[in-house]
Amino acid sequence: MGARRPRAGFFKFTCCSGCGFELAYFQRCLEETLAAFDFAFFRLASSSGTPEGPFDLSLVEGAVTEPFQIIELKKIRQRSKVLYAIGSCAITGGIPAIKALAPEAQVEGAAYKERLYGLASTRPHVINDYVQVDGFIRGCPPGERDLFEALSSALMGKDPEFTEYSVCMECKMADNKCVLVEEGLPCMGPVTNAGCGALCPAHHRACYGCFGLMGQANIHALKGRFRELGHFSEEDIENRFFTLFGALGKTERK
Ligand code: SF4
Ligand code: SF4
Ligand code: SF4
Repeated sequence: MGARRPRAGFFKFTCCSGCGFELAYFQRCLEETLAAFDFAFFRLASSSGTPEGPFDLSLVEGAVTEPFQIIELKKIRQRSKVLYAIGSCAITGGIPAIKALAPEAQVEGAAYKERLYGLASTRPHVINDYVQVDGFIRGCPPGERDLFEALSSALMGKDPEFTEYSVCMECKMADNKCVLVEEGLPCMGPVTNAGCGALCPAHHRACYGCFGLMGQANIHALKGRFRELGHFSEEDIENRFFTLFGALGKTERK
């Protein structure tokens, strides 16, 4: 009889499901790693399965925007040995957190013509506002390197080593042309976590920071560099940094 495969669950709160999609459909090199788990609950991949634990590994995507989700999240934590937040929505609030910029009633009024019975949307929160998280798989959606690191570390019972350097490093390794230096684009790569393989600069676009703030990032210096370029207003510059912290002003770094 073979060894027991670790039991895993993938849970979704308020988000676009892109992180689940990324894991299920676009990470072909992860196939063998995924096969090493028994995914007992992954609604996007299978309509069967149960959210009841225990789980050796739980991945949670999405922001918390409704009271019932807090209860669900706490149950998931109790049932999980290891729990990772996956994607910007879960880690910094991401796109769903934009609604925190306006009063709740105003947001509801914009979304629904009439007040819906039972609607209980609240100010968005990241998942580690409510439960302890064992790791952060960054990105919108995450890249294969950190996904593989999270899953393989869970299999080996070790702490994951996520990328802790900037997108610029990946850019240099890929021998990309620097769009900040050569084209004067407001690239956020110097202060953004690596993990995407410098996807945007590889396509001659400036990074906008979707992998979140890099440790020891020199925000002040990059803002100064953008000012030196001479064609961005202070508002433009602040808006560039908005994506990095999200509407909640959050980063996983304390
Ligand atoms: S982090 Fe990005 S890809 Fe993942 S669920 Fe949120 S919006 Fe979608
Ligand atoms: S293009 Fe952006 S990420 Fe790449 S080296 Fe230049 S500043 Fe860094
Ligand atoms: S280059 Fe920047 S914005 Fe583009 S995918 Fe990577 S981290 Fe996200």
